[in-house]
Amino acid sequence: MIPFLDLKGPYLELKQELDEAIARVVSSGWFIGGGECDQFEAEYASYCGAAHAIGVANGLDALHLALRAMDVGPGDEVIVPSNTYIATWLAVSQCGATPVPVEPDARTCNIDPALIEAAITPRTKVILPVHLYGQPADMDPILAIARRHGLRVLEDGAQAHGARYKGRRIGAHGDAVAWSFYPGKNLGAMGDGGAVTTNDAQLADRLRVLRNYGSRVKYVNEVQGTNSRLDPLQAAILRVKLAHLDAWNARRSAIAARYQQGLQGCGLGLPHVPDWAEPAWHLYVVRTPQRDALQARLTEAGVGSLIHYPIPPHLQQAYAGQGYQPGAFPIAEAMANEVLSLPMGPHLGAEQQAKAIDAVLGFPV
Ligand SMILES: *Cc1c(COP(=O)(O)O)cnc(C)c1O
Repeated sequence: MIPFLDLKGPYLELKQELDEAIARVVSSGWFIGGGECDQFEAEYASYCGAAHAIGVANGLDALHLALRAMDVGPGDEVIVPSNTYIATWLAVSQCGATPVPVEPDARTCNIDPALIEAAITPRTKVILPVHLYGQPADMDPILAIARRHGLRVLEDGAQAHGARYKGRRIGAHGDAVAWSFYPGKNLGAMGDGGAVTTNDAQLADRLRVLRNYGSRVKYVNEVQGTNSRLDPLQAAILRVKLAHLDAWNARRSAIAARYQQGLQGCGLGLPHVPDWAEPAWHLYVVRTPQRDALQARLTEAGVGSLIHYPIPPHLQQAYAGQGYQPGAFPIAEAMANEVLSLPMGPHLGAEQQAKAIDAVLGFPV
């Protein structure tokens, strides 16, 4: 059986370093905040090329608190991709604001900058692009639109640790980037974790207050904040893994290159990488109208695969209140019906991948 993602491989490869990091936290007796969190924040900010990193409890909180720090509230609108993990939308809804979907470019699967302006209204506050599958969104035109209309830009970087746009790492192209360290991400903890990176000192300060019960000075509460902490155990684990992120992303790139070559001309839609993009290859996603049959065939052959994502947010019951019908966002809907993610990760062996490629090639498209 070839797993879609090997979650034990990272621990086995870094066992000694990880065990030491965990023991260091356990024996320190310091279990909330403190040096490990501060150091991870400094190291991650520097990795991302951002002035500040603020650790939080998970990726959804990173998105939600960043929007709150940008003063997004009831009555406001935030532009989001029509095809994304639902967390992007939920973060907007949690602020009492409305997610306004914009379709992706069918080739890159990322939000189409040419469609954004038509979705802007006097209530729009923020544009929220997602670097989906680890492919950077086309930031320059998005930033130009935001400047023209006086809007903020929050990026969802949950799948894009280490990806580069025009040579520069994702981390501070827009006003802020929200990150998740969910175990399956390119930089994954051994539990939940998240962060926001930004060059904006005022946003960073607001986030530090919001994540800590709205408090800067103990027992003095300026705003109705929340409790959203990055656990120091996770911070210590992330510090170990951050040092290996580039090497592990390079393995992902090599795997992606082998897929691109091995699957060329087989009739499946393969990922399109614009020349300005250096993806983090969180996922390797192929497309075919016969997706369900292809997935069944791979399962039979012992090759794991997943669908990211089978139901677009606008057709989820959770968003029935916004009244969208099937057909409202045809590109997102076609993707939901056609995409399939093949095995991908730094611990996928060359032989395992060769078997996965053979299984795909055995499927008549
Ligand atoms: C994983 C993910 C999130 C949410 O992260 P959690 O840490 O699970 O809350 C948000 N957006 C995208 C695109 C993701 O892939």
